Amino acid sequence: MAGLCRALGRAPEAAHLAQLSTAIRRVLDHQPRTPWSLVRRSLDGQGLISVRDSELLDRLRRADHDEIALMQRRLPAGARALIRHGQHPLRHRVADEDMLLDADLERHLPLDLVDVLVPDGAEDALVPLGRAWMQAKQARRELANAAGAPDAWHMVGGLRRTDPVSPDVALLAVTGDPVGWSRRAADALPRDVLIVAGARAVAVAADPEPIVVHAVRPESAATSLVWYTGPRAHVRALRTRASATGVEFTRDALLEGAREIPLVEEVDLYTRLDLPFIPVELRGRAGVLEAAQAGTLPTLLEMEDIRGDLHMHTVYSDGRDSVAGMVHAARALGYRYLAITDHSPTSKASRVLTIERIAEQAGEIAAVRALVPDITILHGIECDIQEDGSLDVPDAVLERLDIVLASMHESYGHSPTRILQRYDRVMRHPLVNVITHPANRSPGRQPGYALAFERLFEQARATGTAVEIDGAPGHLDLDWPLAEIAAKMGAPILVDSDCHMSDRLGRQMRFGVGLARRAGIRKDQILNTHEVSAIRAFVAAKRDGRAWQP
Ligand SMILES: [Zn+2]
Ligand SMILES: [Zn+2]
Repeated sequence: MAGLCRALGRAPEAAHLAQLSTAIRRVLDHQPRTPWSLVRRSLDGQGLISVRDSELLDRLRRADHDEIALMQRRLPAGARALIRHGQHPLRHRVADEDMLLDADLERHLPLDLVDVLVPDGAEDALVPLGRAWMQAKQARRELANAAGAPDAWHMVGGLRRTDPVSPDVALLAVTGDPVGWSRRAADALPRDVLIVAGARAVAVAADPEPIVVHAVRPESAATSLVWYTGPRAHVRALRTRASATGVEFTRDALLEGAREIPLVEEVDLYTRLDLPFIPVELRGRAGVLEAAQAGTLPTLLEMEDIRGDLHMHTVYSDGRDSVAGMVHAARALGYRYLAITDHSPTSKASRVLTIERIAEQAGEIAAVRALVPDITILHGIECDIQEDGSLDVPDAVLERLDIVLASMHESYGHSPTRILQRYDRVMRHPLVNVITHPANRSPGRQPGYALAFERLFEQARATGTAVEIDGAPGHLDLDWPLAEIAAKMGAPILVDSDCHMSDRLGRQMRFGVGLARRAGIRKDQILNTHEVSAIRAFVAAKRDGRAWQP
């Protein structure tokens, strides 16, 4: 800011900036979401601003991190909002450091202007969960190297909520000296990594949106965690509830007058607001506060409830690791069983399991079983569903396997009705136990099949075929609300990793569990929270033509 003021020959007066923001508002009132270049041209053309003003406004848009940090403290809200409208890489998220929420803006600006300046996520780039996770880990490493490891890290925003795609990937660094920590990070991070730094936040480069890292004191951790986990509507609702009881919920504290009410964990905030803890994955649900108040929130599935993982790949198809590698990873996660399920011959995967090699794989699995007797290894397969709804592996071969997964990787351009007919045929097959990633969607890329899913789930229940919640970042399918419908209809449900690398086995199962939690699913509604005997009984019931009883 000092440089900016020098360049302009004077300090930006608050009143002067407010006048400018009024002029800009007039343009935006007339034509909402006008690009910055046009706003400026219009102001210039109307003689509303001087050359120096126009220079100032351009500088505001392109301000570097020192300027932004200072601006956040000095500028009136209207002027800060200008940064939001500009094309700065962080757009409105820069201002979030001190202004944080629309609610703060609303105190200073009329609502219509807030709507213009803070579009509702639509213009944000959405970051897929898998990518966000990897980039957040990388950002943590870089920041720990630059500024030292904080006392604790938390993933917040969409990452913590297991949103398949989200506009608000962020991290929380808990440290006794947030300002010093941010300053050290800003000073030491390479220029291509640091995008912008605020007084208590830095943003680091990531694709397609930067990751914002907020630094907070340990005393603020509980409120900040709720605040930055969001979503915004939930935080707003809690703020409203807090003020109704005479306290103020801010990012940094729960305040009773000027006094900070001490809170240790997130749950303490909810308790103080006379609510039970609201699971992160449910916070975006409409009516969740009312459900919490009424005591009707479900007890959700936990990672610890998972007994085994029934979908993963090895070097026999497009996986990276051996059978033994996957077994050891599953064992390290404390699983009691797993299934090795490589891709069948007609799959478009980069490598597939040929019919001839199925016997070879069986031999290798038998050898690993002998070496690692404390975990049950099921031999399965992920079979591609053919154009006519048949499978590409003969029944005589499938019969010798412990479990058969069927996948609709290829639509052949069929209509939803035709796809459903193929699913219908394959689910009647007595050797098919699981429909993997039923919608065949890819977050951020493919919306998935628009099927009459109720019919699919009804058929799954009737035939004793499980539908899968697949935690692979490229699938994240079934997600809410489909998974919720499947559970309500009583379809058997599995949560699997569909993992292709042993070191991601746990992460992808976590994603799957997160999706089940978003859907409000309980432990008893998931097949693989049971022992392997229940899985074997499930498979045997269908092979024997008996009805499956949960
Ligand atoms: Zn698949
Ligand atoms: Zn798979």
